[in-house]
Amino acid sequence: MKVVIIGAGVAGLAIGWRLAQAGSEVTILDRAQPASGASWAAAGMIAVTAELADASAPEIEFARYANSLWPSFAEEVEAASDRVIGFSRAGALILAADEAGLARLRKQTSEPGLEMLDAGQVRALAPMVTGPQEGALWSPKEARVDNRALGIALSHAFQRAGGTLIANEAVVRIERQGGRAAIAHTPFGLYPADIFILAAGAWSGLLEEVLAPITPVKGQMIALAPPRGAMPPQQVIWGNGIYAVPRGNRLLVGATVEDVGFDTKPTDAARGSLRARAQALMPGLMRWTLAEHWAGLRPRSPDGLPLLGPTKLDGLWLAGGQFRNGILFAPAIAQSVTAQLLGKAAPIAAFDPRRLA
Ligand SMILES: Cc1cc2nc3c(=O)[nH]c(=O)nc-3n(C[C@H](O)[C@H](O)[C@H](O)COP(=O)(O)OP(=O)(O)OC[C@H]3O[C@@H](n4cnc5c(N)ncnc54)[C@H](O)[C@@H]3O)c2cc1C
Repeated sequence: MKVVIIGAGVAGLAIGWRLAQAGSEVTILDRAQPASGASWAAAGMIAVTAELADASAPEIEFARYANSLWPSFAEEVEAASDRVIGFSRAGALILAADEAGLARLRKQTSEPGLEMLDAGQVRALAPMVTGPQEGALWSPKEARVDNRALGIALSHAFQRAGGTLIANEAVVRIERQGGRAAIAHTPFGLYPADIFILAAGAWSGLLEEVLAPITPVKGQMIALAPPRGAMPPQQVIWGNGIYAVPRGNRLLVGATVEDVGFDTKPTDAARGSLRARAQALMPGLMRWTLAEHWAGLRPRSPDGLPLLGPTKLDGLWLAGGQFRNGILFAPAIAQSVTAQLLGKAAPIAAFDPRRLA
C-alpha cells in the first residue's frame, strides 16, 4: 500500500512509523521542518487526570489506553531512533485554591491510585509550592515527555523503518480522480498514492475545509531558568489557571487558550500573566529568569474530539482534532489509524471523521 501523509507532527510521524514497520510505502510531506508545529510548542504532558476532568467517556477511555501504551512506546521510539525522549511518570499535583475546588477534585478520586492531599502534604511533596492553596489531588499516573525530542526521535525512527520524509514542501491541493483522492500536489511535484492521511494539525482545514473542519487554538507558554542551586519541582503542578512542567532544569509554564485564528505572535500580556500566576503559587520563581516564550496552534474539531479514520472521500483519511492532548494520544492514534488502515480494526465511533456533516 502506498501512503502519503500530509504533516510531520507527532501524529503523522507516529502513524507513518507504524505503517512503515508494517511494510507500507510511506512518504510524509511537511511544509516546514518536521515536528515544528504544535508538537514542538506543547508542554509534553501526558495529563491523563488533569486534562480529563470534564471529558467524555470515549475520550477518557482513549486517553487511559494511550497512557498505558506510553512506557513501551517511549522505549521503542528511543531504541528505534537512538535518541532520548525524556519520558517520566513522576505524577501531577492538581492544586485547589478553596473548598469548592477541593470538592471538585474529590469527585475524581473514585479512580484507583488518585488521592487527596492536605496543604501540608502538598508542601512536603513539592516544597516550592509555598503560595496559598487548600490541598491537592495527587495523580501518580500522570507522565511527561520532552515533546521536542520526541518529534526528532520519531522522524529518525520513521526514516530508519524505510519511510521517506520530505521537509519544506507544502501540499497545496489533493486532486480527485474517479471520485477518490488520487494525487497530492506541492509547488515542486505530484505525489500519487492509494491512501492520503491528512495530519496537518491546525492547518488541516486550510487544505480540506469541509472534510477536515479543524480550527486553530493558540497557546502561549514560557520557560523559566533557575538561579544557581535551584531546581524545578519533580512533579507537574496545576493551579491558579496555569500548569508548570519540569523539563531538565527549566520549568515550562503554560498555557493561554486563545481563539485568534492563525496568529502565533507571543504577547507581553500573556508572558506577564503566566509568570505572575506561577509566582503566586511558587514565590521562589521570582528569582528565576525568563528563558523562552513561544506560541503554538492546537488543532480543534467542531465537537472537541479527535478525527481519526476515513473521511467521506475515498482514499482520504484524517488524523487530527486532538486539541490539548495530541502528545498524550500519540501512541494510541498511531495504533488505531494503522489498525484501521490494515483492516484490523473499525474506526472508533466517537472519533470517526464521518460523524461530522
Ligand atoms: C502551548 C501548547 C501546549 C500543549 N501542551 C500539550 C501537552 O502538554 N500534552 C498534550 O498531549 N498536548 C499538548 N498540546 C497539544 C498538542 O501539541 C497537539 O494536539 C499535537 O501536537 C498535534 O499534533 P499534530 O501532529 O496533529 O499537529 P502538529 O504538530 O501541528 O503538526 C502538523 C504539521 O503539519 C504541517 N503542515 C501544515 N500544513 C501543511 C501542508 N499543507 N502540507 C504539508 N505539511 C503541512 C505543519 O508544518 C506541522 O509540522 C499543546 C499544544 C500547545 C499549542
